[in-house]
Amino acid sequence: MKLNCLGCGNPVSLGEEYEDYSGSIRCNACSAILKVTLKESKILEMEFLRFAIPSVEEAFERRI
Ligand SMILES: [Zn+2]
Repeated sequence: MKLNCLGCGNPVSLGEEYEDYSGSIRCNACSAILKVTLKESKILEMEFLRFAIPSVEEAFERRI
């Protein structure tokens, strides 16, 4: 599935493992982190979190 980045509008491709997913994803185009809740490939919630630097992203993913 695809969704559009809230930061830059570019499409972000997500694999099958994201059909039911709640957490953060990163836009490859602008490195923004988006918080998403997906169920059966539908977007229930999407929220812009921040522009990421790698160390911040790692810390964020460890908290989940
Ligand atoms: Zn983006």
